[in-house]
Amino acid sequence: FEPWNDPKAKPLIQFKGVTKRFGDFTAIDNQTFDIYEREFFALLGPSGCGKTTMMRMLAGFEKPTEGKIILAGQDLAPIPPNKRSVNMMFQSYALFPHLSVWENIAFGLKRDGKPKDEIAARVDEMLKLTRLQQFAKRKPHQISGGQRQRVALARSLAKAPKLLLLDEPLGALDAKLRQATQFELMDIQEKTGTTFVIVTHDQEEAMTVASRVAVMDNGRIIQADTPARIYELPNSVYVADFIGEVTIIPGTARKSGEGYEIAYAEGMKPLYAETETAFDNGETCHIALRPEKVAISAEQPADRRNAVQGKIIDIAYLGNLSTYHVALPNGQMIKAQTANTRRLSRRGFTWEDTVWLSWTDTAAVLLKG
Ligand code: ATP
Repeated sequence: FEPWNDPKAKPLIQFKGVTKRFGDFTAIDNQTFDIYEREFFALLGPSGCGKTTMMRMLAGFEKPTEGKIILAGQDLAPIPPNKRSVNMMFQSYALFPHLSVWENIAFGLKRDGKPKDEIAARVDEMLKLTRLQQFAKRKPHQISGGQRQRVALARSLAKAPKLLLLDEPLGALDAKLRQATQFELMDIQEKTGTTFVIVTHDQEEAMTVASRVAVMDNGRIIQADTPARIYELPNSVYVADFIGEVTIIPGTARKSGEGYEIAYAEGMKPLYAETETAFDNGETCHIALRPEKVAISAEQPADRRNAVQGKIIDIAYLGNLSTYHVALPNGQMIKAQTANTRRLSRRGFTWEDTVWLSWTDTAAVLLKG
């Protein structure tokens, strides 16, 4: 499922040069991108980067200052929120406390004056989809937080919108339930075929549920790509640093004839890294290195040319993993992560140990800037 790579696929949503200003503050800065039918698209970024503003423009609560938003070929500008095939599920769920689960789900359909039997059939379908059949008669205060979340979801899908906007939909749930609910959300999205756009602060959540993740900064999408590409081939230091753990090594690019090499400061051998972009010889660059791709050993590995020696200054024991912070003689710190596959009796390295860190030529990415 990669419609963004299919020249024949039609986008459901098109942002065309969209800018949103509040006074002289630019909240969204000239953004052009597409979201496809059946996509689960996540907006991720630090507080204030413009995620909610994007959603509110899609829902129709805000109008772009410049540019257009197109939904299924139609310019959204003249269409008021209640006439758009778009629904928004809020973090607070906004359920009606005095109405039963059944009535909450039926609310929008009733308001639209749908025939009684059609409403009943649709509500039943939604109850089944969200596994809420046995709670149909209960009021929101008589069910759990996770069940309330499912009622809100059922209600926002009842009118079969083309697009569902989810604003921190799982923010109120505890960590365990949150994880289980992520899979449920993916399952429901797949079954209904509705396009979902989710805003979340939680990068793991975005990576888990989304077909593509858009990493935002200052009103711009810096990279919109599959979770794997965002993680493995970030397009910038910003994205590499925002998602997961990473070591960033500054340096200068130098062509090796077989990809790229980088010469870092003094006293460091050239390091080899992969790149998808062209660099000039001598251009400033950064190497991004994920800690789990760095091996740690007592002896110098014979088969890798990316090998550096340093001293362990910190260890974070995480149960399944341990992360080692290793300081090199030139002051650079590199993180290495190992899986703890053995029991306590075979613990690896300890503080102050001098160790070798090594990684393959394709483990690291060379980035601009
Ligand atoms: P958070 O993760 O904290 O919810 P966000 O990424 O959703 O943040 P937005 O709510 O989209 O960020 O806000 C983007 C920027 O626009 C912020 O700097 C915010 O202060 C500003 N902003 C949003 N709405 C308005 C408004 N109505 N008037 C003025 N400034 C606004």
